[in-house]
Amino acid sequence: MTLKNILNADLHCHSVVSDGTMTPEALAERAKTNGVELWSLTDHDEIGGQHRAAAAARAQGMHYLTGTEISVTFAGETVHIVGLGFDPDDAAMQQGLRKTRGGREQRAMEMSDSLAKAGIHGAYEGALKFVGNPDLISRTHFARFLVETGVCKETSEVFRKYLTEGKPGYVPHRWASLQDAVTWITSAKGVAVIAHPGRYKFTPNEEYALFTEFKSHGGQAVEVVTGSHSTQEYVKYAETAQEFGLAASRGSDFHSPDESHTDLGTLPFLPGHLTPVWEILEDRIL
Ligand code: AMP
Ligand code: MN
Ligand code: MN
Ligand code: MN
Repeated sequence: MTLKNILNADLHCHSVVSDGTMTPEALAERAKTNGVELWSLTDHDEIGGQHRAAAAARAQGMHYLTGTEISVTFAGETVHIVGLGFDPDDAAMQQGLRKTRGGREQRAMEMSDSLAKAGIHGAYEGALKFVGNPDLISRTHFARFLVETGVCKETSEVFRKYLTEGKPGYVPHRWASLQDAVTWITSAKGVAVIAHPGRYKFTPNEEYALFTEFKSHGGQAVEVVTGSHSTQEYVKYAETAQEFGLAASRGSDFHSPDESHTDLGTLPFLPGHLTPVWEILEDRIL
């Protein structure tokens, strides 16, 4: 057991700059209240909140790592790659993320058309009311609209009934490639992390391919303790981290006090035998 693992690090959450409901400043305050010592804001495909988040962390007396969560298409599935500790002013990374965000508006209009055919009208305009960053309209904003209008009780029900593959509001989308996402992060001096691997519906062979290719492109870490994993998945992905020689990360994936079941800074610590991702990012901690 190394004491380095006994650190309340929360390296995955979302603000109004993507699909969270709180500002970077309010998140920093909440993280501090919950005892977070090292924090990262990881908005989807967007790093526009990084300077604000770093300043807010400093004001709260917390250490900070820059962060983002990049949408990737791998083996026909959407996979999320978290980037930590990169230079937020890196031009290639900014351009890559801009391109990744680019298709979101068109996709949102198609989602709205698709929902209209299922009898739900005005969803695009309705979702827009929940959007904090016009560049980043996401399924979550549609989910909030469908809860507001009483179509569903909670956002998870909206995803189950409308926004996932095979359902009326689902529109397939092609995101960044795994290689591009990992390269943007590592070229900007950051560390790439496979987010919540337990959430993907891969066969064992596909999952093996994901980890193998991720490593071959320069990926260095995997989320082991996340709000998306069960206790059994902590064990499974601790083993995967060791098998592939990856460092381990920890993060709540907090989006909103009303929607998220895991609050900032409340997860169990990382298993003691793993290398924490903050150990390989020591010189990038602000
Ligand atoms: P998008 O990037 O627009 O496809 O939206 C993905 C986001 O939707 C994720 O980051 C989650 O915040 C949210 N999400 C995905 N699946 C679910 C689910 N089953 N329940 C609640 N939220 C979900
Ligand atoms: Mn999200
Ligand atoms: Mn994710
Ligand atoms: Mn996330």
